[in-house]
Amino acid sequence: MPVGTQGSIKGVLPDQVAATGSQIILANTYHLMLRPGEKTVAELGDLHRFMGWPGPILTDSGGYQVFSLADINQITDQGVTFKSHIDGAIVHLDAKRSMQVQNDLGADIIMAFDECPDPNKPVEYQKIAVERTMRWAAECQVAHARKEDQSLFGIVQGGTDRGLRAYCAEQLIEMDFPGYAVGGLAVGEGFAAMKAVLGWVTPMLPSDKPRYLMGVGFPRDIAAAVASGIDMFDCVLPTRNGRNAYAFTAAGAIRLRNSKFTRDSGPIEADCDCYACRNFSRGAIRHFFFAGEMLGPVLVSVHNVRFYQRLMADLRRSIGEGSFLSFLQNDPRCLLGPSAQSSVEGIEETP
Ligand SMILES: [Zn+2]
Repeated sequence: MPVGTQGSIKGVLPDQVAATGSQIILANTYHLMLRPGEKTVAELGDLHRFMGWPGPILTDSGGYQVFSLADINQITDQGVTFKSHIDGAIVHLDAKRSMQVQNDLGADIIMAFDECPDPNKPVEYQKIAVERTMRWAAECQVAHARKEDQSLFGIVQGGTDRGLRAYCAEQLIEMDFPGYAVGGLAVGEGFAAMKAVLGWVTPMLPSDKPRYLMGVGFPRDIAAAVASGIDMFDCVLPTRNGRNAYAFTAAGAIRLRNSKFTRDSGPIEADCDCYACRNFSRGAIRHFFFAGEMLGPVLVSVHNVRFYQRLMADLRRSIGEGSFLSFLQNDPRCLLGPSAQSSVEGIEETP
């Protein structure tokens, strides 16, 4: 799922998003409830009309942004009180309010309100957060007012503790959600720890329901998660990196501001069928970035989203053909991780 944080996939028209093969997109409850407010979005139609996207949309619960962005005053079993990063207003968010906001926004898949604690907090705290996450999940089921047309997914938390993850997954499965997410990963625990957690948790979750890994990740992370059984992903990397002239290719990452591309007449990636690669040279795109032309960020975002969708389609095809393990071991995209990005500067935006 391409991410439309503020109700827009930054710089990319919905038609172009659809042309990359994207079927479903994501929007952030936290941002939209603070501005323009969920009632305004509802008055303007609903989120589909607001985003110009008639296809499926998923909204998150607001929890992750509250814990990662906001100046938090208090977390209790009754919810979270925080200061809005826009105007400093004191805002309270709990399970009931998260459901009301997501019911008003009107996405097709909505997420249970959860606590995403700092992974460095001790296991005693992770346990408190898991208990809260399960209590809030049950409250969300009760408060959810549009069960007939919005699917509410539960979120498994528990940090990197195997027992806590299993406990949380078991309790949520008992509550019988139409889909399940794994939260609290890719928050600094490292690739090996993420793979370990997915190896424990994903096989526990019902295979006949969607399994969604939230906020991940690099192509390498996605390939590894698919190996554990994950079906759905969302990530800002394709568009965020695209805006910074950073393009994903199977041969590695390239930064289009580099002077070696000045007279490069080739496309971003030779075998890519995206709009940018069919119509523009690396040299022209490099020029657009230096001249401050909007088209530069737009074209690289389109390429990157298509790169991710092609990877997903190829992963799916390899599973269908029974060649998944060989794909995982031999396709160079399955190795692309954050190391390729370490030299990229200026990527500082809100999650
Ligand atoms: Zn392309």
